[in-house]
Amino acid sequence: MTTTSSGGCLCGAVRFTATGVEAHHHACHCGMCRRWSGGAPFFAANTDGVEFEGAEHLARYESSSWAERGFCRRCGTALFYFLKPTQAYMMSVGAFDDQSPFQLVLEIFIDSKPEGYAFAGEHARWTEAETLARLAPP
Ligand SMILES: [Zn+2]
Ligand SMILES: [Zn+2]
Repeated sequence: MTTTSSGGCLCGAVRFTATGVEAHHHACHCGMCRRWSGGAPFFAANTDGVEFEGAEHLARYESSSWAERGFCRRCGTALFYFLKPTQAYMMSVGAFDDQSPFQLVLEIFIDSKPEGYAFAGEHARWTEAETLARLAPP
């Protein structure tokens, strides 16, 4: 199921409307995501387009040569992971106003996950090698 959905950062300076939002989302346990998200994995929902309001408050950090991470420069809310080769926004599930449709269906970089937490449920779990083989840009 995909839908159009709105959201924003904690302080409200940045708002967004995303189209083609996939309610089936993934969690990334990689070290960069956990550092960026304050120790938690990054819950990311694929979209096919995003429009921002308050873009002057939006900061973009180039975390690798192929991706940027977006956040509010006022309150620091992590808003998205942006894949440059495909121009695709993966929005932070926690930034959506209505998070009730979202369902975790995939964990990636499972071999980077610390012992201290684990998600219940039957769903796919990919190692770093499996993740890169499936998602890395050519
Ligand atoms: Zn903010
Ligand atoms: Zn990650």
